[in-house]
Amino acid sequence: MLIDKYMIPYGHQYIDNQDIKSVLNVLKSDWLTQGPKILDFEKSLAKYCDAKYAVAVCNGTMALHLAYLVAGLSKLDEVITTPNTFVATTNMILAVGAKPVFCDIRNDTFNIDEAKIENFITKKTKAIVPVHFAGHPCEMEVIQKIAKRHKLIVIEDACHALGAQYKGSNIGSCKYSDMTIFSFHPVKSITTAEGGAILTNNKNIYQKLLLLRSHGIEKDKKGFNVMTELGFNYRLSDISASLGLSQLKKLDSFIKKRHEVVRWYKKELSNVKEIILPKELPRLKSSWHIYVIITKRKKNRIPLYLYLKKHNIGVNFHYPCIYEHPYYKKNGFKKNRCLNAEIYSKTAITLPLHVLIKKEDIKFISKIIRSFFEA
Ligand SMILES: *Cc1c(COP(=O)(O)O)cnc(C)c1O
Repeated sequence: MLIDKYMIPYGHQYIDNQDIKSVLNVLKSDWLTQGPKILDFEKSLAKYCDAKYAVAVCNGTMALHLAYLVAGLSKLDEVITTPNTFVATTNMILAVGAKPVFCDIRNDTFNIDEAKIENFITKKTKAIVPVHFAGHPCEMEVIQKIAKRHKLIVIEDACHALGAQYKGSNIGSCKYSDMTIFSFHPVKSITTAEGGAILTNNKNIYQKLLLLRSHGIEKDKKGFNVMTELGFNYRLSDISASLGLSQLKKLDSFIKKRHEVVRWYKKELSNVKEIILPKELPRLKSSWHIYVIITKRKKNRIPLYLYLKKHNIGVNFHYPCIYEHPYYKKNGFKKNRCLNAEIYSKTAITLPLHVLIKKEDIKFISKIIRSFFEA
């Protein structure tokens, strides 16, 4: 079932016969592109998360693009976000002409350090984009307070965090934000192959998202199609939406399994003194998108990474500081440095974590890690 039977991948989708059946049903129906399954999927997703509205789009990156556009971000606007994220978070800020401003991360969850956000607020600041790294929720109550005080928009990049909870509310409920975006890439909590969504409780935002998703075309008073805004085709197909509907039914069991894998790792690795294991803060529930360990000494990181790779363990690295990427460096983003994020990025290794992984896999991975430090 796995891509390479000798390799334990760091992430993998889980597809069962129910999923296959629901996709086949769409293939045999009249609608392949955006049809009735999209609305079903959106309603189910909004209901799951406790939000009023969901808009499905073709991937998480385009979900970010639409969210930023609808938030009115444009030239000269500044957006405060984390350097510890996938490039799409900030690439799309650049795509709408605005400027990402990097705020350093916390040392426990590696999420944006809410206590430092206000240091970066200027007259140009228009939005805060927290990213729930690895599926662990950011400190949303504090972020919302800061946003209210300075009249800023909050957009949660929750691509890692479908199925996570912050103080009893679901990530995606938008209780502390204006919009929340998700990705349904195969390594995320659920998959639609490519796919993404934006959730909101604001009707105006919802309608604007719908408009921009489909060319900016709407019906005029006489019922004719007219284009009123510069829009795109960011639609999801009904094929993908039907897969999403079927996957959503399994989301709770997926999250449960991810928590179980984390317990296995903890049991196997908690007495390895040379590494620090990830943990959840009180009252926050992680969706455990990825499992990142920290090597206490920088010098151990690359050798351990290579040693695991040599044993066919699909280790990975999330993330180098955004501003260390050549494009960002070239464009002057390395001036304001985030020291915690830099130390983090020199000590972090992502171990395999997904729904298909077995206890024996975790025992094997842990044994290899122990043998590295015993050598
Ligand atoms: C996966 C991901 C995205 C992009 O989602 P795609 O569906 O791959 O376009 C954006 N932000 C973060 C934090 C992600 O992990």
